[in-house]
Amino acid sequence: MYDMNKKVRALKPYDPITGSYPVRLDANESFLPLPEEVVLDAQTALAEMAFNRYPDPAAEEVCGAFSAHYGIPVGQVAAGNGSDELITVIFSAFLEKGDAFATIEPDFSMYAFNGFLQEARHVAIQKGEGYRLDIDHIIEVCQKENVKLLIFSNPCNPTSIVCPRGDVDKLIRSVDALVVLDEAYMDFSDQSLLGCVEDYDNLIILRTCSKAFGMAALRLGFAVARPDLANALRAAKSPYNVNALTQKIGALALKQDLAIKAALGDILASRDELRAGLENLAQQHPGRFTVLPTDTNFCTLVLPDRQAFFDYLAAKGIVIRLTGGLARVTCGAREENAIFLQTAGEYFEQTKGEG
Ligand SMILES: *Cc1c(COP(=O)(O)O)cnc(C)c1O
Repeated sequence: MYDMNKKVRALKPYDPITGSYPVRLDANESFLPLPEEVVLDAQTALAEMAFNRYPDPAAEEVCGAFSAHYGIPVGQVAAGNGSDELITVIFSAFLEKGDAFATIEPDFSMYAFNGFLQEARHVAIQKGEGYRLDIDHIIEVCQKENVKLLIFSNPCNPTSIVCPRGDVDKLIRSVDALVVLDEAYMDFSDQSLLGCVEDYDNLIILRTCSKAFGMAALRLGFAVARPDLANALRAAKSPYNVNALTQKIGALALKQDLAIKAALGDILASRDELRAGLENLAQQHPGRFTVLPTDTNFCTLVLPDRQAFFDYLAAKGIVIRLTGGLARVTCGAREENAIFLQTAGEYFEQTKGEG
């Protein structure tokens, strides 16, 4: 008789929020559709696609479009089936049995998941005061625990806070671990180290097309590192990891610098509107919640009664995300932000004196 091992029996499928919620502010996606010119070009490409052939294993065209968009050498770039896949490849290739990896909690839950699958030892470092990174503490723990891989998001999901690049630079230089810097939200901020990977022999930066570029459905992410690290990643991934349609549409979209810039402006305007509305609510209801500083497309609330808040919103067809002991709200279209803020206001009115 076959017995599944304990590890795989302990797993549960990722459980995104499903059901029909008219206002979805839970997954940090872009609320914008792809630009019309990209959709039209994609239709032409679809008609010409050789579906009987395997895709380009090096994903050259889309890696080229990505490197041109950011002005970095293409030799530093490897593509993945979402940055999620790249995280899995990095954990499986760069950790050996029994190695320690570190996260800085609260952070993106996929890091710990991959470490668990890899049977690596998890060193969970806590964030410091105000959810900031305590760089000296992190360095000390990494060295003491002989950490081989340190992974964190900057700006951070779920805190929405960005760590200044000078601090990140010090951290990378001061540890003997491979540092995986997940810049999934860095298009919304200005503290990227993307142009500096040549300065480090222990840095892999991850980027994604799922957030600022509005292509979550395509599953497209990139790793950026010195060519020796990038080559190791290309060797460790499965050969045809990024499908041909994704390579093609991703390349078309990444060439549209003006459309990307315009979309980014719209998203940041929505984020600012959401943040202003939340700060206004926080003032009207002192002591109920605080809004963390944001450098992302979402706002993060420190809110003791977050489950009741979540349930109240869900009953009205609005969904947000609770994670890492925080409540995370993705910015949406103007009407979505308005409905959310209105309903959140009702909640704080109705629960006055509680919370
Ligand atoms: C959304 C997200 C990702 C996943 O990106 P994909 O490219 O869609 O797999 C990675 N890291 C963080 C921190 C994210 O929030």
